[in-house]
Amino acid sequence: MGEILLVIDEGTTSTRAMLFAPDGTVLGSQSAALTQHYPAPGLVEHDAAEIWEKTLACARAMVGKAGGADRIAAIGITNQRETLVFWDRTTGEPLAPAIVWQDRRSADICRTLKDAGEEPGVQARTGLLLDPYFSGTKIAWAMANWPQLKEAGDRLALGTIESWLVWKLTGGLHVTDATNASRTLLMGLGSGAWSDGLIDLFGAPRHALPEIVDCAGRFGTTSLFGGEIPICGLAGDQQSATIGQACLAKGETKATYGTGAFVLTNAGTAQPRSKNRLLATCLWQLDGRRTYALEGSVFVAGSLIQWLRDSVKLIANAQETEAIAKSVDDNGGVYLVPALSGLGAPWWQPEARAAITGLSFSTGKAHIVRAALEAMAHQSHDLKTAFAADGVDWATLRVDGGMVTNDWIAQDLADMLDVTVERPDFAETTALGAAMLAGVGCGMFAGLEEAATMRGKVETFTAQLDPATRDARLTGWRSAIENVIGQRV
Ligand code: ADP
Repeated sequence: MGEILLVIDEGTTSTRAMLFAPDGTVLGSQSAALTQHYPAPGLVEHDAAEIWEKTLACARAMVGKAGGADRIAAIGITNQRETLVFWDRTTGEPLAPAIVWQDRRSADICRTLKDAGEEPGVQARTGLLLDPYFSGTKIAWAMANWPQLKEAGDRLALGTIESWLVWKLTGGLHVTDATNASRTLLMGLGSGAWSDGLIDLFGAPRHALPEIVDCAGRFGTTSLFGGEIPICGLAGDQQSATIGQACLAKGETKATYGTGAFVLTNAGTAQPRSKNRLLATCLWQLDGRRTYALEGSVFVAGSLIQWLRDSVKLIANAQETEAIAKSVDDNGGVYLVPALSGLGAPWWQPEARAAITGLSFSTGKAHIVRAALEAMAHQSHDLKTAFAADGVDWATLRVDGGMVTNDWIAQDLADMLDVTVERPDFAETTALGAAMLAGVGCGMFAGLEEAATMRGKVETFTAQLDPATRDARLTGWRSAIENVIGQRV
């Protein structure tokens, strides 16, 4: 058996294959951009055939780079979550466009179900909320609107992207892992099984669903690369990044600050129930046992910096924000609530719009830029408060994503959250998590703890700010938020 782990990291805008040595060293990487289809406002589709062809090409290139299939110990797959593929079991070809997680076409279905009082029951069973984001309402829409799916009868197969890729790699194995299944609205979070009640509620075709499996194990083999390679690791991208950040104990938290910010906290082995509109989700399933996470998403993070650069033209590039923020002693009383596309967790105010408050004649560009960077820690603090109220306070914050290459932001997070912030030198935590799972699944590692050595060196930031200054900032932020959402918090 080879020693190299091949990771397929199928994202929203690109698909990638990477090679990892058992110590976490990256031996190669190849990616391809994916075409985004926007057939109408609010609709986002992918071509599942394109995803497969480009993924296969990237993987082939990496197997070649590794020196052949016999050099590869196992394949790990991580993927954009919730995106749904429909295909024909006999031909293995897609029957419809893939409906992407960002797609809002099922908003009316969600509203009808909410009006019928279904949300509390759905949340109790799945940990999720009734939002077009999740796959179940996309299935409901597709079954009602695409006649070819009903006409396909027993030939219809559906699944999230990892399910589609495993089918294609193995030539017909139909599985999904528990992390991806936990985003469909169809899986009972406590049972780890498809729920008949939820299947009925969303009108999902039972016969078309994959079998739910663990995140690590021997799921099947592929012979598409000139030799047999086992597929041994599967997880949705945010879960994979949480594993890649080695958040293996309860309270350990990872936050990815990219275009938006995604925060997941390991919530342990008992099913968490959020009372603060966080999502409960499966973090991983091993040997049939689930470890759970609470999850909160902030819609606007790095996109705020892009907006300052491209629309407002206040800055020339993202990197210079660090020096600009440092050029002033404080925010000068300025707060920026970046609700440019509404507010996500824990506020969930889709109609809210952004505001810059506290402007005076002494306000300069640097204060506004600083307020924009400070908004990351402020939004994260709101999430931390919600997580703590749900019984899972953050023990550490392990950060990744483009924004935290900015040292000032990393330090401000430590200061405002009053936790140690860890930033790994190796930033590709999503792919790393899939490599760890594949390594566990093929027996290279005894468990995730052992696999976590792949994570490598981290840089730490510890809180330095005096409590009075922190409190003053939090008070200022709270009144800015109240301004935006029109109520006291
Ligand atoms: P995604 O994976 O969502 O595409 P990335 O993790 O690549 O995002 O992060 C890119 C985002 O980070 C961009 O929105 C950019 O504005 C922001 N960003 C990049 N570098 C910096 C920096 N030094 N300071 C602040 N923001 C930054």
